[in-house]
Amino acid sequence: MSALAAATGAINLGQGFPDTDGPDEVREAVVAALRDGAHNQYPPGPGLPDLRLAVAEHRQRFYGQTFDPDTEVLITTGATEAIAAAVLALVEPGDEVVALEPFYDSYAACIAMAGGVRVGVPLRPPFDGLDLDALRAAITPRTRLLMLNSPHNPTGTVLTREELAAIAELAVAHDLLVITDEVYEHLVFDGEHIPLATLPGMRERTVTISSAGKTFSFTGWKIGWVCATPELVAAVRTTKQFLTYVSGGPFQPAVAHALRLPDSYYAEFRADMHAKRDVLVGGLEAAGLTVYRPRGTYFITTDITPLGFADGLDFCRRLPELCGVVAVPEKVFFDDTPESQAIGRPLVRFAFCKKVEVLEEAASRLATLR
Ligand code: PMP
Ligand code: GLN
Repeated sequence: MSALAAATGAINLGQGFPDTDGPDEVREAVVAALRDGAHNQYPPGPGLPDLRLAVAEHRQRFYGQTFDPDTEVLITTGATEAIAAAVLALVEPGDEVVALEPFYDSYAACIAMAGGVRVGVPLRPPFDGLDLDALRAAITPRTRLLMLNSPHNPTGTVLTREELAAIAELAVAHDLLVITDEVYEHLVFDGEHIPLATLPGMRERTVTISSAGKTFSFTGWKIGWVCATPELVAAVRTTKQFLTYVSGGPFQPAVAHALRLPDSYYAEFRADMHAKRDVLVGGLEAAGLTVYRPRGTYFITTDITPLGFADGLDFCRRLPELCGVVAVPEKVFFDDTPESQAIGRPLVRFAFCKKVEVLEEAASRLATLR
């Protein structure tokens, strides 16, 4: 869809990346690292020690949780590699992996690469909560792992403390490991982000994943991390060793700098995205779509049925020519079963991590479809 946007000159509200870079001082930290001659060769396997320390400090500052930077933090090539390395490390062929459906695209691929069996727990319109009975029903004696993503891409669902407590209880009762993908941890607009690992019984069984891309608006840098017990980190490191070995030298000190930005940076970033969410929610509603207001992430899920369309993939392919906008059809995030495809078919995702004037222009173009 980004290639389609580039080819047609349409406004790209498809792939999730901002149209403005993160803070100058963070960009300058990469330049300094490139010039200082100390960061252009392989970094240490687990990641630059000062970045591991900065990750641990960040978890302490925002969630009051302590991780040992030497044994409990691993730097990865974005959250994407952290997810792949964790799934390959923890899933054996035939193991069942329970994940929220719709799935962020790499989950299904990584579970398949590990030979695991994907079991979906449906999140369904209006995307205002998790069906705990469906989660209970998805767990079998063969379940090895739960994969959670909150705030959730693409639906914007943010798991509540009650939902997380129920998940924790199930994970402990069935002795499951859990991967939590928290890349949108600083993008919660309604409610709060609660890391699953802070709940009773979860510290020892949770692999927490996050990344610099979303929080600091440098999605191209691909620096992510894993926080977990020494045993779990060692397992993930073993697979990371043979995926990439190490990750982007000069970006690591810059991300350490970014993680130490004052609280005001994080508050302003969230307030800015909150305002953008409200602009695009309003614009899409005015254009006649059914809008499922997201509590977090920088994506909005819509239903295009009121515009007289039935299939989001067909709609998204024609959208550049119809009105000069690109979006993402959500059925690609759903299971291939007829029920799941029927739910996903009319859903289309719009990213709002763009300048306000771009969002307003996109909304007014969409309004011409009525
Ligand atoms: N998980 C989710 C839910 C995401 O939306 C993304 C970003 N597209 C990633 C992981 C990947 O993050 P990164 O760019 O750090 O690899
Ligand atoms: N996470 C972003 C998205 O969902 C971008 C990553 C990707 O394109 N695979 O749009």
